[in-house]
Amino acid sequence: MSLKHNFNKINFFFGRNPRVEKRSDWKKFIPNSYKAVVTITADFELAWGWRYSKSSTNPLKKAIQKARLERENIPKILQLSEEFNIPITWATVGHLFLENCEVEEDKPHSSLPRLNHFENDFWRFNGTDWFEHDTCSDYKSTPEWYCPDLLFKILNSKIEHEIGCHTFSHIDCRDEICSKEVFDSEIIECKKIASVRGIELNSFVHPGHTIGNLNNLAKLGFSSYQTDPGNVLGYPVKHKNGLWELKRTYEFVYKNDWSIDYHIYRYKKIIERALKSNTVCNFWFHPSFDFQFVSQVLPSIFENLNLNKSEIFISTVTKYLKRIS
Ligand SMILES: [Zn+2]
Ligand SMILES: [Zn+2]
Repeated sequence: MSLKHNFNKINFFFGRNPRVEKRSDWKKFIPNSYKAVVTITADFELAWGWRYSKSSTNPLKKAIQKARLERENIPKILQLSEEFNIPITWATVGHLFLENCEVEEDKPHSSLPRLNHFENDFWRFNGTDWFEHDTCSDYKSTPEWYCPDLLFKILNSKIEHEIGCHTFSHIDCRDEICSKEVFDSEIIECKKIASVRGIELNSFVHPGHTIGNLNNLAKLGFSSYQTDPGNVLGYPVKHKNGLWELKRTYEFVYKNDWSIDYHIYRYKKIIERALKSNTVCNFWFHPSFDFQFVSQVLPSIFENLNLNKSEIFISTVTKYLKRIS
């Protein structure tokens, strides 16, 4: 056990992580008769999220491995959602809606303007074209890049999940990197293919916490985005442009040096603190997380939420924000 991890456990023990916001008017944010709110958001991206990752010497290989893990985990997550009545907001990369795509005028998605080369905390894009890894085939031959099959499962679940947006191709959305032209065309493409399936996109999650193009996002009809200013149990903020900002509380993630029992203790404790402090808890995760989390930790978290459902308003993001708007 490293010193850093001891500090992490000590900070948690003393209630400093997540940080707890206090408001005397908390009742504006917690629906009547409830003591707290819990939302759960998945950043659903398959291979698109990792292809320029700086944390690997072979990011494309990592992207494909992550996509395969994600594909294995999602059916089990959906099964747990049904077993314990837990809805999830799936912030989905738009390309995943497609059954297939093809090369048009020498390149994939030729109508979409591209980002220039850039680097941020997580990714370095210096390739030949932003869509250089697109296989331009279909979900059966390269299931790491498309997944209408999983979307179908989510939409046909007896639990009312929400499908949100995570851009069309997992771009960096910051104003200094992403022009209005690139942003708008990515989002309009997402809206177009979602509407074919009868889905209205309301929730947005910026890939890699690259917050930007917010006024455009509002104009394009979205109602919320999410930020991660350090873990927070707090309250959503309504901005002048009409968008709600929902802060993230804690990631579902498997840590090799924590026991299964300690994982379960920590997540249950966060739920208990949300109840005590009358706050909103917005858990989030990458569905490519370790299967140990899905099989051994998530069932206990979901079971605990379900046991407390008379006191916790457990909701998708848009349903919750509509309730308090
Ligand atoms: Zn494509
Ligand atoms: Zn992402």
